[in-house]
Amino acid sequence: MSKFNQYILIPLRDAMRNQAERNAYFIQGKYYTYRYLAERISAIRCAIHDWQSEEKVVAIAIHDSIDTYASIFALWMEGKAYVPLHPNQPVERNKNIIAQVEAKHVLDSEKNEAYADVCQVVYTASLEYAKEYVDDWAEATDDDLAYILFTSGSTGVPKGVPLSRKNLAAFVEAFWNIGYELTQEDRCLQCFDLTFDLSVMSYLVPLLKGACIYTVPYEGVKYIAVVQLMEAHQLTFALMTPSTIQYLRPYFEEFDFPAMRYSLFCGEALPTDVALEWSRCLPNAEIDNVYGPTEDTIFCTAYRLRRNEPNVEHNGVLSIGTTMTSGKVIIVDENNQEIHDDQVGELCLSGEQLTQGYWKNPEKNAEAFWFAEDGTRYYRSGDLCFYGEGGNINFVGRKDSQVKINGFRIELSEIEFHARQFLGDTLVLVLAYTNSEGTQSLAMFIEAKEQDLQALKDYLASKLPPYMLPTKMIYVEKFPVNSSNKIDRSSLKKLI
Ligand code: AMP
Repeated sequence: MSKFNQYILIPLRDAMRNQAERNAYFIQGKYYTYRYLAERISAIRCAIHDWQSEEKVVAIAIHDSIDTYASIFALWMEGKAYVPLHPNQPVERNKNIIAQVEAKHVLDSEKNEAYADVCQVVYTASLEYAKEYVDDWAEATDDDLAYILFTSGSTGVPKGVPLSRKNLAAFVEAFWNIGYELTQEDRCLQCFDLTFDLSVMSYLVPLLKGACIYTVPYEGVKYIAVVQLMEAHQLTFALMTPSTIQYLRPYFEEFDFPAMRYSLFCGEALPTDVALEWSRCLPNAEIDNVYGPTEDTIFCTAYRLRRNEPNVEHNGVLSIGTTMTSGKVIIVDENNQEIHDDQVGELCLSGEQLTQGYWKNPEKNAEAFWFAEDGTRYYRSGDLCFYGEGGNINFVGRKDSQVKINGFRIELSEIEFHARQFLGDTLVLVLAYTNSEGTQSLAMFIEAKEQDLQALKDYLASKLPPYMLPTKMIYVEKFPVNSSNKIDRSSLKKLI
């Protein structure tokens, strides 16, 4: 039997069959039962059958709606993969993604004409339930794709990370191996946009145990909605980015969530003091710092916070722990030689969760993947790490100019690329800085005399998603340089 069926489709079908009247989702203030989810999946599958199309990758214009989630499961049951299109991202960027994956259809739970000139748009909310299509699945192998996510690319074009059905099933297997005991009584948070890979764990895994998933709307302030859901529904499981609780830190004293059983963090460095303070709001929860890039399917290492003993940490940042997968996680020096002591090196990842490579991007693949002497294929994460106590891995920082803004992965050079497209020869530099709330923001420096910024802002907004737009734009007549004649970034930062 395929691993994807074993770990995903069969448990999902069983939940829909055996507890049809229990709630699967709570979206925009409304509960949806497993029966209703099954009906929406069937309705969408009927429409997909009617296309009679061989396309393997279908786009979904994502919304906080039951039909968006049902579309994902319908595609999987039809042996297809999805690529999410974010409504707040520039249409041009989304069309570039459609073109890259050669999608012929877009599933959309809202009426939308934005992609009608490049694709057939299917309005899923209007599809009527006809026949239950739950038990029969189209033939697919574990090597077929489950989804493709596009992340910021340093050359100005987003790069696709395809994850196979085997990759996703291996993640689910590894997730259960950590020992999380979810049941149908659990109430779980889903606070991520579907363009972010942490969403896949949040919208999928609880369903495999028949639990109920509470989603955070796309509109409004996310961290406020998170707390409202936690309080009103006494949630028991939550995966969040550290930025989310960083915003909530001033209110920690007022919080008490005794029902919470597991509180996971991923996507960014987790400061130990924030994690410990947060732990006092959740007296009964295990708090885990999990780590992983999109390329290695959601996350692949885990560290459990110790409430009453010293933690493994570096510079106040909590360890990312040890591998939770059957795959190997190693730290290597510049010659790809494995480091076994406490020297800093680059973290490299291997195993069943690892993507086969970037979508149609041989150059990037040659840079990012390498083979060890024993034939194991590794991914260079770009993360600098070293072994701490008990083999727990400490996170030091990035090797390159990739930064995280509210958990979103950003190549600063992609922003600089678009600014230069607009400004011509002008020197442009983007830096991340810590704002007054303790989270990261972006500042753009432009080597030019002061001038009107609006046209540049409008141009960037037409090319980049909102989280990639700099919050500060600063003109500097001449960039300062340091003794090695490089741009002096620390002097520039002082201008923020
Ligand atoms: P993404 O592909 O968006 O999941 O981003 C992956 C990157 O986020 C990693 O390569 C790290 O740089 C960073 N990251 C993810 N989880 C953690 C963590 N727990 N601690 C520190 N950095 C993390």
